[in-house]
Amino acid sequence: SGYWLRSTGRSALPSGIAPGAAARLRRCASSSVSIPPPRCLLGPLEAPLRYMFGPGPSNVPPRILAAGGRPIIGHMHEEMFEIMDDIKQGIQYAFQTQNNMTIAASGSGHTAMECALFNCVEPGEPVLVAINGIWGERVAEIARRIGADVKTLVKTPGGYFTNEEIEQALAKHKPVLFFLTHGESSAGLVHPMDGIGDLCRKHNCLFLVDSVASLGGASLFMDKQNIDILYTGSQKALNGPPGTAPVSFNDRACKKMFSRKTKPVSYLLDMTHLSNYWGCDGKPERIYHHTGPVSGFFALRESLAILAEMGLENSWKLHKEVAEYLHEGLEGLGLKLFVQDKNLRLPCVTTIAIPVGYNWREITQYVMKHHRMEITGGLGPSVGMVLRVGLMGYNCSKTNADKVLVALGDALKHCHKSKV
Ligand code: PMP
Repeated sequence: SGYWLRSTGRSALPSGIAPGAAARLRRCASSSVSIPPPRCLLGPLEAPLRYMFGPGPSNVPPRILAAGGRPIIGHMHEEMFEIMDDIKQGIQYAFQTQNNMTIAASGSGHTAMECALFNCVEPGEPVLVAINGIWGERVAEIARRIGADVKTLVKTPGGYFTNEEIEQALAKHKPVLFFLTHGESSAGLVHPMDGIGDLCRKHNCLFLVDSVASLGGASLFMDKQNIDILYTGSQKALNGPPGTAPVSFNDRACKKMFSRKTKPVSYLLDMTHLSNYWGCDGKPERIYHHTGPVSGFFALRESLAILAEMGLENSWKLHKEVAEYLHEGLEGLGLKLFVQDKNLRLPCVTTIAIPVGYNWREITQYVMKHHRMEITGGLGPSVGMVLRVGLMGYNCSKTNADKVLVALGDALKHCHKSKV
């Protein structure tokens, strides 16, 4: 059991090792454990400062970091329930909804996606998924895993669906639920929303919308646009740390999910329990279900407070202005935007056609190495088609757009360009 210690020896310890750690390592040589403490954990945490100008997560402002760093309280304490109530109201504002059934799921955007599908769809039921990038693909995959009968409407990345196309598919497949991505972050497209909710009502189906990459950055009105289920994530325009995911269900969605014949496959995401945990079921007592991410909820409350102080309309306006400024600058560098129609460009995540003759990976690596800046390539079906730049929430400023333009200009000068 002393092998690892003898073979490494004190002098081989990493230079940043904490005082006393070497002595602890030596003591372990005579202890009962056969797996030693990992040497990497005896050095300090290294998390570099970076400009997070990709499709998310975004940089987290000090106020939100500080909120997340406050001392922990219990997940069932009265004060925690008050904070959860604040979060609920913040989500209602951000989603523009009066839905009582409004919560933040404990997990990333995928958790909210699964929460919506697991609760609102039963095995064998037909579901229609609009796919114009990776998020529709993901939803189709999740729906298949729960045994839904998945039908798809497909466009290449950057494409969008007309209301006529959607209505034809609704009439043909008679789904119980139709899924659409509002801000398609893999393609950089913001999907028109008007009239689609009405079509879903006409065809007696629930309308599920993903706003992970658009909430706070592009206008969206859950109630007015007749969206039945809407979800988002904490880490994009809301500038929270990843790990909490707002989701809201209207009465139509509640009616369907609370009159199911089968239990949802996930205990953790079962809305009969989560609705009680979030005080949405009208019962006087909240019963332990799971331990929510207390620090994540502190941070999410502060994210939503910043949005409330700024005002949704101001936030939408800022994202549009900064995106347009960035787009002009990119064209000034000779780059081409991937989404041609200006009205369909997602203000939060800009997609740039990969410049001819360049290797996209070399560009993103160059920018990371020389400018400490994350911008990324495509995702899923848009890999090899685009570079993606996200300036969201706290990061959304012309100064930061200028930083992106300098970094990309520099990359175009220094990265290898093949003769074409
Ligand atoms: N939907 C969209 C539109 C997204 O951009 C993302 C994250 N990139 C997700 C869903 C998934 O969110 P998460 O990574 O937080 O699970």
